[in-house]
Amino acid sequence: MLTYPQIQLIAQQCGIDAIGCAPARCMDDQIGFMNEWIRAGYHGAMDYLERNQDKRYDIRQLVPGAQTVVVILLTWEHSGHDYHRVVKSKLYQLEQALRDAAAAQGQRLQTYEGQHLFCDSAPVLEKRWAIEAGLGYIGKNHQLIHPQWGSWVHMGELVLNEAVADIPEVRVDASYYIPGGQCGACDVCIQACPQQALSGDWDARRCIAYTTHRCTLCQQECPCNG
Ligand code: SF4
Ligand code: SF4
Repeated sequence: MLTYPQIQLIAQQCGIDAIGCAPARCMDDQIGFMNEWIRAGYHGAMDYLERNQDKRYDIRQLVPGAQTVVVILLTWEHSGHDYHRVVKSKLYQLEQALRDAAAAQGQRLQTYEGQHLFCDSAPVLEKRWAIEAGLGYIGKNHQLIHPQWGSWVHMGELVLNEAVADIPEVRVDASYYIPGGQCGACDVCIQACPQQALSGDWDARRCIAYTTHRCTLCQQECPCNG
């Protein structure tokens, strides 16, 4: 069985900016919040969010036999505009390096034979997995905010069908999942948004980034990205 410090070291050698691991579980505690957001219509045309809910909330339904979710972060500097391709290729590189490390221990890395690497591509609650893996919290701008890299990060997940030893205990409470629960009185992103898309909950129908991918004002202005 691979250990968390081994995985962390291998990830560093692969040029991954941050990594965390979380045991696979059903995130039934997130269902109420997401359903409320969807019921209010804030998800706009993302009607795929209404589908595959069983898989979205329980990664073990999406990846049979899942035991560990390994979350990687790549900074924008390292992932560039074509981040799907770059993050995916980094996930493949990491997986191969973990296979090699397991083989060196006379073991075989256990993974599902179907899809088990993800980047913005399947019903995976990416930001929530990142939080569970100790990689930050959700800001009022609805981005994951990492303590070192702020929100200038892209996420990817590698799901393993085996447990990982020595995962450090991650202390998070409900405020990490609630947008802005850790932001205090700051409301810079809300004021910066030209569309008032953050005035209530994040409203995808108003957000320019969602429609054209050409707005990052709520991230540029965030003091965590300073
Ligand atoms: S990306 Fe732009 S439009 Fe969307 S919430 Fe941020 S500032 Fe507003
Ligand atoms: S600008 Fe302020 S309120 Fe918005 S995400 Fe950053 S710290 Fe939170």
